[in-house]
Amino acid sequence: MASQQSTSEIFPWHTGRRFNSYADYFKQTFGQRVQKVTINAGFTCPNRDGKISFGGCSYCDNSAFNPSYCQKGKSISQQIAEGIVFHKNRYRRADKYLAYFQAYSNTYASLDELKHIYNQALECENVVGLVIGTRPDCIDEEKLDYFARLSQRCYVILEYGVESCSDKTLALVNRGHDFQCARRAIDATAARGIKCGAHFIFGLPKESPADWQQWAKIISAMPLDTVKFHQLQIIKDTPMAAYCQQHPEEFYSFTLPQYIDFIVGFLEHLNPNIVVERFAGEVPPRFLDQSLWGLIRNDQILQQVEKTLAQRNTYQGRLYK
Ligand code: SF4
Repeated sequence: MASQQSTSEIFPWHTGRRFNSYADYFKQTFGQRVQKVTINAGFTCPNRDGKISFGGCSYCDNSAFNPSYCQKGKSISQQIAEGIVFHKNRYRRADKYLAYFQAYSNTYASLDELKHIYNQALECENVVGLVIGTRPDCIDEEKLDYFARLSQRCYVILEYGVESCSDKTLALVNRGHDFQCARRAIDATAARGIKCGAHFIFGLPKESPADWQQWAKIISAMPLDTVKFHQLQIIKDTPMAAYCQQHPEEFYSFTLPQYIDFIVGFLEHLNPNIVVERFAGEVPPRFLDQSLWGLIRNDQILQQVEKTLAQRNTYQGRLYK
């Protein structure tokens, strides 16, 4: 256990929280609350359009995490306007927004097309930057040079789907790239001074909590600004749902208390400079093939993680070397 120092003495992020939280990172970066507004700009994905495969990653169903206002037939400015109204009803405090390009692979187009799309978002009132989700194999030097220039005038972060640190798993779930590809993209992004995030899933087949604990070291050594962690959620009618029916023994399934316990242990080994955006994913129950923990919201999971960190008097990075 850590000694009883005050939290602001021991944490590099000086917020008093026991992990490096995304909400506080935003407040420090922008001086106020900033809300992400999700956009579907109509991109596709090389793992779906046949460039790599037609099947996609075996767990993927983009409709499961697309808000209702967010449809590719609508213009970028209309999606942003509707998204702002949607969020104002829920979170009244935000009056600055980041355009969040979430669906599919949001750098999978020519540079001219990308510029056209991103400029439409940046021209919207109160939009102060871009959050761009993409695959690590959908980026190149020319695009990175553009993002580096754009980063000089507004907030830009590239968020890569890494999902697993194991090449065997990435092949098993048909990701269509290996872990080195993710490393190269992250290194090249950070080397240009562009903010960089990554997404990981705990629960893919043939992996175990012992494997995921090892990831804490690997992730800690990467030049990442932010990370998102999700438990595996098996979406109805995906290849993963069929695979799970056939091979249930290959899936490690956490109970909620086990997951909280795992996350707290994981955080202890995670580089304290990396901001953690999420500990869990939230998919509407109608999409789920099987519900792991019933109806629990992300903020309830966050509360349980923070409560457990406090009970154990521990914090992100306590065991990080
Ligand atoms: S890369 Fe993303 S959008 Fe493409 S198939 Fe995989 S999860 Fe789906």
